[in-house]
Amino acid sequence: MTSPGADPATPLNEISWIPPRRVPNLRKLGLRTLADLVLHFPRRHEDRRSFTPFPDSPPDQPILVCGVVSKAGYLPYGGWRRGYEATIEEGDGGALSRRISCRWFNMPYVGKMIATGMRMVAYGRLKARGKRLYLDFPEFEMIEDEGDALIHLHRIVPVHAGGEGLTARRLREWIFQALHTTDLTRISSLLPGADQKPDRVSALRAIHFPESFEQLESARRLLVTEEFFAMQSLIVSRRAHVAELPGKPKTGGDLMKRLHAALPFPLTGAQQRAIADIRRDMASTHRMNRLLQGDVGSGKTLVALSACLVAIEAGFQAAVMAPTQLLAEQHYATFTRLLTPLGIRVALRTGSRRVDESLELWTGEGVPQLLVGTHALLYEPAELQNPGLIVIDEQHKFGVMQRARLITRADGPDVLVMTATPIPRTLAQTAYGDLDVTIIDEMPPNRGKIITGVRDTKKLPEAAAFLRKHLEAGRQAYIVYPLVEESEKLEAKAASVEFEKWRELLAPQACGLLHGRMKPEEKDAAMKAFVAGETKALVATTVIEVGIDVPNANILLIENAERFGLAQLHQLRGRIGRGQYTSYCILMPGEDTPEAREKLGVLEQTNDGFAVAEADLRLRGPGDMLGTAQTGLPPLRLGDLFRDGALIQQARDQAAAIFEQDVRLARPEHAPLREWLAKQDVAALGG
Ligand code: ADP
Ligand code: MG
Repeated sequence: MTSPGADPATPLNEISWIPPRRVPNLRKLGLRTLADLVLHFPRRHEDRRSFTPFPDSPPDQPILVCGVVSKAGYLPYGGWRRGYEATIEEGDGGALSRRISCRWFNMPYVGKMIATGMRMVAYGRLKARGKRLYLDFPEFEMIEDEGDALIHLHRIVPVHAGGEGLTARRLREWIFQALHTTDLTRISSLLPGADQKPDRVSALRAIHFPESFEQLESARRLLVTEEFFAMQSLIVSRRAHVAELPGKPKTGGDLMKRLHAALPFPLTGAQQRAIADIRRDMASTHRMNRLLQGDVGSGKTLVALSACLVAIEAGFQAAVMAPTQLLAEQHYATFTRLLTPLGIRVALRTGSRRVDESLELWTGEGVPQLLVGTHALLYEPAELQNPGLIVIDEQHKFGVMQRARLITRADGPDVLVMTATPIPRTLAQTAYGDLDVTIIDEMPPNRGKIITGVRDTKKLPEAAAFLRKHLEAGRQAYIVYPLVEESEKLEAKAASVEFEKWRELLAPQACGLLHGRMKPEEKDAAMKAFVAGETKALVATTVIEVGIDVPNANILLIENAERFGLAQLHQLRGRIGRGQYTSYCILMPGEDTPEAREKLGVLEQTNDGFAVAEADLRLRGPGDMLGTAQTGLPPLRLGDLFRDGALIQQARDQAAAIFEQDVRLARPEHAPLREWLAKQDVAALGG
């Protein structure tokens, strides 16, 4: 019999084959025990069973090549971005052998690792300039000696995420060791029953060092299923937890009806259905925890306001929180206009009241019934004595953690979160799996069309003439440019350069400037001047991204548009097409690459937020899209929210089944899951 192997819980500082000075580096990666090493799954694999010949021209996919370094050294140019170049040659290095130049900029340590005559494996995207082929910033590894054959060569090799002092090569060696010396049967799974499966141990090995890609794929499936199960359990348990929270039933609808009767237009069917969903939640003895999703301009604000009136009529306060001060102020203006005739007291709170008393605009008497503000409102419980409803506008700026804290408040308000970010169905279950969802799938009628076009920067003068023509006809325009400078000083400078440029281009039409570094009063003044039509064009950063509503503005020009994500561009585009005029969105890429063309082309083809989101997911993968929405969930090590959609659904069903039978997870086989969930929720629900 072979020895059973080491306890997976053994701390890495007790392991003889790990140099003690590397233990802190490992800890930084979250690797403390042998089990952690085994569960540090690779980012990708390289097929080093045989290397493909050097290509003649760049292929579409990244390439993996192995060659001998024939020349290496620092480049004479590049300034502070000092470059290092290593040329690798295929085969015998004869006059006919092909070469690739690998270059790294601003990475001084690279030079210390490379010397001529060494063999190097490089991975990256090949580029051509003239006859020369380049790999810029390739991932690389030096092949050291024949001992490498066992772990680093002649097989499918894992590449793990490293860190300071931890090269992929080193991690590969340690993980190889760990797999061969640890009792893998004792690395338990949260999925009840999974530990007993004999192929689980093989999967733990094969996920790192597979013998074939088929074996890798089946190992991956098995472990991804476990990973998704853990994640979905967390979501299902949070949802179950919220479902048990008592709410304060609120009925009544007179105020709301009076609001609707005073509107110059009827509500859309989708708005009415959303309001019905919300009223049903609010009338029940359970706490509402609902997401309202609707494309930009679909009219979510009125739905929220209707809900607020139900809470107010029942004798509670309502609060509406927006991600930016600008949007909070705009909501405040809308709400006072609509609610003052109904005798409702509305107050605005932005920033911290303690910091800036002057922002307290409401001066009426008595306690405010509706409080509008930024997310900072959350931390000012003194304002909210008796909250019946809290509305979070544009929730994509608001993480799962903050949401969890809200819904578990001791004073038990209903919670309505609103977002214009359409999340494809495959992701919705993860991003919003703990919420009930209402979708507004209908736009108010009589909206002008939006025509989107991608135009080369060379066409700027023509674009300016087009803008001038519309401004002269009385319309207004937004001109958006992305922030490129990190320092405040440079940023403000870049803003003023843009501003001067456009002022000249559009003269004599008046231009305004709006950017994040301006003082609140200045921003306010710039926005007011634009709303009032005193300025015809607003040169702005993405501060205008959310919620701003000026129906007379029908042109949006975005410079360096490729620097923005698709979702963000779609949000920005939502600023136009709000009135009856035909609107124009002009996208100018700074760098005209095929990727930029493809991305921006999506917006030329569709105005539908869902279609944009699907394309975004296809082009970019889900990582960025979930962004903050995913915080509060454990990071995925293996699973791919896009590719593995079917497995997510399966995991969801498995998790739901377990909670259905055993909601407190009291059974012994559920103990590991119960303990793990308790650990995860400490952070989300404790604070
Ligand atoms: P969003 O869903 O992006 O928050 P808003 O609530 O800001 O959209 O609504 C956009 C514009 O549409 C506002 O000017 C609003 O007054 C108007 N609006 C809302 N509902 C309707 C409707 N049923 N018919 C016509 N216009 C509407
Ligand atoms: Mg809105």
